[in-house]
Amino acid sequence: MSIPAKVRIAVEALESPASAWVYDPGVLGARLAAVRAAFPEWTVLYAMKACANPAILAAAARGADGIECASGGELAAAQSAGARRLAFSGPAKTPADIAAAAACGTPLVMHAESVRELEALAAAGFAGPVALRVNRGRALPGSHQMTGAPTPFGMDEDTALAALGQALALGLDVAGFHLHAVSNCLDADAYAAHVRDALAWAATASEGGFGLRYVNVGGGLGADPRGDVLDLDAVAAALGDGPGRFLDAGVDLVVEPGRYLAAAAGWYTAEVVDVKTVGGRAFALVRGGTHHFRLPAAWGYAHPFDVVPGPRTGAVLTDVEVRVCGELCTPRDVLNGGQRVESIGVGDRLVFADAGAYGWEVSHDRFLGHPGPDMVVID
Ligand SMILES: *Cc1c(COP(=O)(O)O)cnc(C)c1O
Repeated sequence: MSIPAKVRIAVEALESPASAWVYDPGVLGARLAAVRAAFPEWTVLYAMKACANPAILAAAARGADGIECASGGELAAAQSAGARRLAFSGPAKTPADIAAAAACGTPLVMHAESVRELEALAAAGFAGPVALRVNRGRALPGSHQMTGAPTPFGMDEDTALAALGQALALGLDVAGFHLHAVSNCLDADAYAAHVRDALAWAATASEGGFGLRYVNVGGGLGADPRGDVLDLDAVAAALGDGPGRFLDAGVDLVVEPGRYLAAAAGWYTAEVVDVKTVGGRAFALVRGGTHHFRLPAAWGYAHPFDVVPGPRTGAVLTDVEVRVCGELCTPRDVLNGGQRVESIGVGDRLVFADAGAYGWEVSHDRFLGHPGPDMVVID
């Protein structure tokens, strides 16, 4: 792996001992351009829960068609970032969330996840378009399964079809369906099948009930924290002109990637403050750790890293497989369970690439009361 020169410069400029996030909004812009090139007629919303760094969010608000939010807090942040349109998902929306959506001055599609939400939307006078979130009985390969199994997301097909009548009777403007199914899908044929299937199902489900104008296939475009990325051109090739009939009919075909857009735009870096061998195993202990970058602990994988040698002020281990652990008093604070390095020493900075999605956002930084990470934006 190699670290871009400007990231290395930013890492070297940090105060010691460093724990920091480095974001490059330009990378998000490039990823967005790739999605647009592959699917020129689709609507692209950025799922901001992947990375809500203000500079990243601002770049997404500029470059994407809009922002997908999953809380009232995200709604407010996306609006102030200048999003042109919004979508609002989330399985446990509160009355305050629904009131905020009803009062929102930016065009917003509500992804309704239950009958209770439909009733609350009508009661709150929500006048915008509503899409029913449906848990289809179909699984996609990926890391986080949202459908095809009992999950808290959306409604069963049967429930949704019954709810459709209720929603229309309540006077809601039903526009279509939200069919987010999976995260981190790296299989182009499977993703294309998901899109085809979502469109076909939505057409059948809406027949005779309402005019279908919105099909949201969700996120799930794969960008693995270990580096693998879904081949979008292969998805587009596998789809051919399958979605064409829907696009011609004025259906808004929406994709809402988070991970794919944000993963490569963020690097986590942590400085080695100690090295030692315990029980025959080499350890590098860093300032920072999984409370600043929780993903490797949450998923249980070893996140690859590069070593940016610092002024080495203490011990150095050479030609060694090293386990990288953080400053927390728990054996789970492991960023990488074992990676071979030429050398590693106190003062070095370890750089974890492809960390931008679900990195800082899912971290539990209050644990143990250490200072938080620095936040650096480069361009
Ligand atoms: C998390 C989420 C996304 C984004 O998923 P990625 O796998 O990061 O692309 C999109 N839509 C909904 C409803 C989500 O919950």
